[in-house]
Amino acid sequence: MNTAPALEVTNLTVSFSHEKTVVDAIEGVNLAVDAGQFLVVIGPSGGGKSTLLNAIAGLVSPSQGTITAHGKPVTRPGRDRGMVFQRDTAFPWMRVSDNIGYSLRAGGVPRKERESIVAHYVESVGLTGAERSWPKQLSGGMRKRVAVAAAFASDPEMLLMDEPFGSLDFVTKMRLQELSLKLWSETRKTIVFVTHDVDEALTLADRIVVIAGGRLVDDLSVDFRRPRTDDLRADPTAIALRRHLLGRLGLVGMSAE
Ligand code: ADP
Ligand code: MG
Repeated sequence: MNTAPALEVTNLTVSFSHEKTVVDAIEGVNLAVDAGQFLVVIGPSGGGKSTLLNAIAGLVSPSQGTITAHGKPVTRPGRDRGMVFQRDTAFPWMRVSDNIGYSLRAGGVPRKERESIVAHYVESVGLTGAERSWPKQLSGGMRKRVAVAAAFASDPEMLLMDEPFGSLDFVTKMRLQELSLKLWSETRKTIVFVTHDVDEALTLADRIVVIAGGRLVDDLSVDFRRPRTDDLRADPTAIALRRHLLGRLGLVGMSAE
């Protein structure tokens, strides 16, 4: 049995040059993620969350350190790592079902099999009836469902999600969180999910790491029973964790203490 972690980030530093100065967006980060884990990365804006995720995706190169995904060094984007971004990524010239099946087609999956996978995810994410719509005909929440379906349909081993629901209204965001958890429990993919929303982190995570000032400053396991309902808001451990995370986001003094 392969017991290597799904993801291993070792002593990762990513620097960007700005005119004559060099900024370390990520500095000396170590992180090992087990297969099937739902990891949430949280932290203040500008702290380095996206840089870390983009490095795992193979979109930016380490200045120091190494990243290994599924036993292989990460040097470029790969089909083992699917991405969902905050911005819309559906192709406007493709209908919903073609968007969802795009990467399967690019990967040479035969048409019959492709159609059956697309049909499964159309149903699973609640897009039945919208298969032949164009992205511009859909609401923001529906377009996000297309992006989530497309990411799962391509069957990567790991999903990298960068504030995917950040632009959605409260209710739509909760529905998409619920959908993500459903798909995660059905597929048991490894998920690395970036957010700056503490409640989103508490709803989704098995584990929360806090990235601030380019450093990993907390690594917390989150064991609350699932499904996590509104009752979690009254749980003293959850309240304490929520306060701690708000503090990490610079919101100390806004809690009751
Ligand atoms: P977060 O996602 O937590 O908001 P980022 O990873 O986007 O943080 O940014 C971390 C730091 O790196 C910031 O200071 C940001 O300005 C800088 N940075 C990010 N990407 C680049 C880039 N391509 N070029 C120069 N600086 C960058
Ligand atoms: Mg970011």
